[in-house]
Amino acid sequence: MSTRTPDTTRSAELYDRAVRVLPGGVNSPVRAMRSIGRDAPIFVVGGQGPFVYDVDGNEYVDWVCSWGPLILGHADPGVVEAVTEAAQRGTTFGAPTEGEVALAELVAELMPSVQMLRMTSSGTEASMSAIRLARAVTGREELLKFSGAYHGHVDGLLAQAGSGLATQGIPASPGVPEGAAAATVVVPWNDAQALTRATSGHRFAAILAEPVPANMGLVPPQPGFLELLRAEADRQEALLVFDEVISGFRVAPGGAQERFGVRPDLTIMGKVVGGGLPAAAYGGSRELMEHVAPAGDTYQAGTLSGNPLAVAAALATLRRLDVAAYERLDRTTETLAAGLREAATRAGRPVQVQAMTGLVTVFFSARPVTDYAGAAACDLAAHAAWCRALLDRGVYPPPSQFEAWFPSLAHGGDEIRRTVEAAADAFAAIDA
Ligand SMILES: *Cc1c(COP(=O)(O)O)cnc(C)c1O
Repeated sequence: MSTRTPDTTRSAELYDRAVRVLPGGVNSPVRAMRSIGRDAPIFVVGGQGPFVYDVDGNEYVDWVCSWGPLILGHADPGVVEAVTEAAQRGTTFGAPTEGEVALAELVAELMPSVQMLRMTSSGTEASMSAIRLARAVTGREELLKFSGAYHGHVDGLLAQAGSGLATQGIPASPGVPEGAAAATVVVPWNDAQALTRATSGHRFAAILAEPVPANMGLVPPQPGFLELLRAEADRQEALLVFDEVISGFRVAPGGAQERFGVRPDLTIMGKVVGGGLPAAAYGGSRELMEHVAPAGDTYQAGTLSGNPLAVAAALATLRRLDVAAYERLDRTTETLAAGLREAATRAGRPVQVQAMTGLVTVFFSARPVTDYAGAAACDLAAHAAWCRALLDRGVYPPPSQFEAWFPSLAHGGDEIRRTVEAAADAFAAIDA
């Protein structure tokens, strides 16, 4: 294995230009690599299957896969063909198309609790709109969310826990009105007591959860926890909203709601549902969704919603996700996780490799991580050094402890072997 640090001269030059015209040099914060102690991120020229290539000509096994959308890997020929063909017919019309109907029918077939949906251009928009709908139908304003969960950069959801167990949210960013954050109650994930304490003290419009949280790293629900969310929502007639932007079409065709058999009232979808183009959606029962304009009076709109290119990419992607695809994704995930575990054990590095179909997080923690506090207590400096060492060895991990790796159907045995070798080497390097 080559451990020669790759040349990143051109990435560094581009970064110097980028920081003058883009805040932090990027269009979304997580792309920057300062949190792993690296100055410039890698500037990508292209991707093919499980690989990305940077402007300096280096190849990386890509475990970011655009943070989730690319379940088929980069530049999948079927997706490229569908998008190209759609583009030749026109990129946007602002009028309905057949593809949108076919996609909505397919999603309704796959997602157990979705009969009707509305498309948006981003997960943030879908989540913002689902909350508006929940507030409209319940006539209530307060929301319950879990600490460490991410639902897009919606004002009221950029709330963090204050001190105490179930706390009225305080703004997690300047610019978020105190009132917006205060309408959100933040509860630790997997904490049944804190949840029931919050539901007995408030009347919520919605209980909002990533059913398989992956934005604090992958922290699956403990047995019974999703069922408890359902029961608490029912008890106080709040809507249960599952944010399946990551878990949807990934941990099972019908997302976490299929895998765990717990049905939410509303589902937020994104990432895979756009097939690598900007598309997302929210959906639920026909009765609930018919409150949305123009069927109902809850307003929500979008110039590029249901965009023909995105719909073509989505259909080309979702139609490929058959039983065999999930079996393969599951095997890939398990083989990768087992390899990383073994590499860590051999290096004597205490880590928790937490995994579920299509998702893996290597927590630098001696104990299993069950909530955000556990994730935050990880050895972040060692994790950062390990990520830098992986990049030096041609492997591109998400540059943050609080994210998941995204195995795709394009990753095969060779990429896993290369990654596990690099990981073993990287564990040794950070101890040296
Ligand atoms: C990525 C993400 C979002 C936001 O989606 P965008 O398309 O980035 O706005 C919302 N919820 C979850 C769980 C996500 O992972």
